[in-house]
Amino acid sequence: MAVESPAQIVIVGAGPIGIEAALYARFLGYKVTVLESGEVGAHLRKCEHVRMFTPFSANCTKLGKSALAAQHPDLSLPLSDQFVTYGQYLEQYLQPLADSDLVVDCLKLRHTVLSVARSSQTKTENFGQPQRSETTLVTLAKDESGREHVFESDIVLDCSGVVGQPNFIGGGGSPAIGELAARPNFETGLIDSHGKDAKRYANQQILVIGAGHSAATNICQLSVLARETLETHVTWVTRECKADGQNGPVTVIEDDPLPQRKRVASEANQLLVEENGHLVHWPETTVKSMHYEPQNDQFHVTLEGKHTGIHTFNRIVANVGYRPNLEILQELQLDLCPNTEGTKSLIQPEPNFYILGSKSYGRDSSYLISDGLGQIRRVFAIIGDRENLDLYADPPSGSNQA
Ligand SMILES: Cc1cc2nc3c(=O)[nH]c(=O)nc-3n(C[C@H](O)[C@H](O)[C@H](O)COP(=O)(O)OP(=O)(O)OC[C@H]3O[C@@H](n4cnc5c(N)ncnc54)[C@H](O)[C@@H]3O)c2cc1C
Repeated sequence: MAVESPAQIVIVGAGPIGIEAALYARFLGYKVTVLESGEVGAHLRKCEHVRMFTPFSANCTKLGKSALAAQHPDLSLPLSDQFVTYGQYLEQYLQPLADSDLVVDCLKLRHTVLSVARSSQTKTENFGQPQRSETTLVTLAKDESGREHVFESDIVLDCSGVVGQPNFIGGGGSPAIGELAARPNFETGLIDSHGKDAKRYANQQILVIGAGHSAATNICQLSVLARETLETHVTWVTRECKADGQNGPVTVIEDDPLPQRKRVASEANQLLVEENGHLVHWPETTVKSMHYEPQNDQFHVTLEGKHTGIHTFNRIVANVGYRPNLEILQELQLDLCPNTEGTKSLIQPEPNFYILGSKSYGRDSSYLISDGLGQIRRVFAIIGDRENLDLYADPPSGSNQA
């Protein structure tokens, strides 16, 4: 059944998908509140220096561009085929969009969502029954002073991403012994070893864990740093020896539609083939335990597998993926993939509750912003019960619409 505007929508997260969803909803006349635990694009701010794999055209919408053109006629957007950094994407597109008239009043920054539930039905009640949708959704959030607030709504869109919850580094995905205590002292994202992190990583003994594109990006960056600062040593630990048919641990997708992604994967593998005394690869090895010693700012790490032993490192970069925060959704009736913890479909058993963006893919890291933009279009067609509703579509030829 359609939920007509002006129904109230709560959106969790002001990343690319949360902001675009807010704009879409406002265009349709819905009342919107966006709850964001940090700043707009908080997760992207952690890797502002990184060049995106996707061109600008894949990361923006017609709706977003029209909103910006109406509000800031002088703002120059990146070119469609330009591969901008996350910092440029934020500065030139996402933040101006968040500041635009339609979105800015909806934003409640520094509000961390603690739970989403129905106002008077627990998870165990009325599964699949029409009564389930008769009570409102209630979102509990905590502001920066610690005060808690309740937001009632007809619809909730969870766009809270996954980057806030890095996976654990133990061999089977559980925390390595001592990892939980050591966590605040190691990195789980993309380091800026040519910029703001250069001092922190130069001339250090660095352990990098993981074989995905984030690990590959860090390995490429750190190998440049190691050539420039001769006391820098990088040990790269991966569970596998070589990815299928590759000359290193990173999977290079032969016909990858994203050439920048393919380049990083190949380059990281190639670094292992070249003679390089500053980078060593320890395959078929996992982290068993770690202990951080604050007085010396160093870690004692026990490795097991092919390179069993106790080693000392000054820096650890763990790139072993991310998982969705499902704790805030415990009282909702969800149907999630047992493998990835992503959604099996946009429509959940819980009425009027949707997970969009990277969180909908769970632990599957193949998600791109363009996937989330497609979800926004589909979810508002579902909400409005208008199959053909598509605010991203080009106007029919011959029409006068902008
Ligand atoms: C290293 C890396 C590189 C990538 N490169 C690309 C690329 O080139 N192109 C591409 O298309 N995609 C890329 N991606 C995919 C990436 O997931 C997207 O770029 C994008 O950040 C996902 O958008 P999102 O809005 O779903 O989530 P996010 O950007 O993660 O936004 C979620 C927001 O929700 C907020 N939040 C989280 N929990 C709460 C809570 N409890 N309460 C309130 N707010 C909360 C966060 O602070 C954050 O602002 C990359 C991902 C990674 C990890």
